[in-house]
Amino acid sequence: MTIQNLIRPSIKALKPYSSARDEFKGGTENLIFLDANENPFENGVNRYPDPKQGKLKALISQIKDVPTEHILLGNGSDEVLDLLIRMFCEPNKDNILILPPTYGMYEVLANVNAVETIKINLSEETFQPKTAAVLAAANANSKLLFLCSPNNPSGNSFEASSIEFLLKNFKGIVIIDEAYIDFSKEESWLSRLSEFPNLVVTQTLSKAFGMAGIRLGMCFASEEIIATLNKIKPPYNINELTQAKAIEGLSEMALINLQIACLLDEREDLIKALEEVYFIKKVYPSDANFVMVKVDDANKRYQQLIENGIVIRNRTTQPLCENCLRLTVGTKEENQRLVENFKRL
Ligand code: PMP
Repeated sequence: MTIQNLIRPSIKALKPYSSARDEFKGGTENLIFLDANENPFENGVNRYPDPKQGKLKALISQIKDVPTEHILLGNGSDEVLDLLIRMFCEPNKDNILILPPTYGMYEVLANVNAVETIKINLSEETFQPKTAAVLAAANANSKLLFLCSPNNPSGNSFEASSIEFLLKNFKGIVIIDEAYIDFSKEESWLSRLSEFPNLVVTQTLSKAFGMAGIRLGMCFASEEIIATLNKIKPPYNINELTQAKAIEGLSEMALINLQIACLLDEREDLIKALEEVYFIKKVYPSDANFVMVKVDDANKRYQQLIENGIVIRNRTTQPLCENCLRLTVGTKEENQRLVENFKRL
């Protein structure tokens, strides 16, 4: 398998947008910029942001121990996932493979791009990939396989041996969505990027890093894949305020790590408390910052909580998730309020 053969022909042939500043390599002192039709009056955001996000990428490269040539940043990981579909999948011809129950945007993004979605449910109750069934469902037009690990909404990580088997045997790109990896006891697949040319790992600042509001997603892959993604991304997809705030936030890794440790403790307390609630039939193990539970009647319990001012996620219509609710781990006070409400019902 060569990556080039998997890329859409029109993308391979694409000549990317270029700006006058791409060619400019020197320092910026004493220069005047009259190339981009900006308003010249300084207010902190009157200039376009750095399209290559040099400073931010250098910091992420250091934190993740991945060279910058292997990193693409997106407006949330949702944008990264969309770019991947557009890079590899020919509309009305190619397809992606997803393993429900899983993150809803994979299918939405495929639909937006007129790309078919082939679904192979995870195994019942353990929510692990059925690897033989996945390979059997793939065909010559299957370009991308999405593995969400830890998986949203079930909360578990996929077994490393299953992921490795799929990386070796699926004849397309394997995207491991690690949005929740910082809450997991499993290792990230980032350290194995060089072993698998078809491996793409996505992560985000929206979860453990506490910056959902700035929209910053990360994509890690071979230089070849990243170079093509760079050709198709909108030139200024990471705005100035996001770049500045991400640099500020990522400079406080000690604080972020403290928050993660706190949320992991809270998750354990929450799981114990939920196990005491009479209408909760099962609390699923979690490797993420949320917990899935099976209740007697998900629609009824969801509605009751709404009436008490608590918003959770009802997942009952998802495959294998009948009567399941997904609960985010909040602050100690929030979790206590959730449990007290459950106990009063
Ligand atoms: N992947 C998974 C598994 C998610 O749950 C989410 C958000 N809920 C995303 C990706 C998207 O994250 P972002 O905020 O980076 O777009």
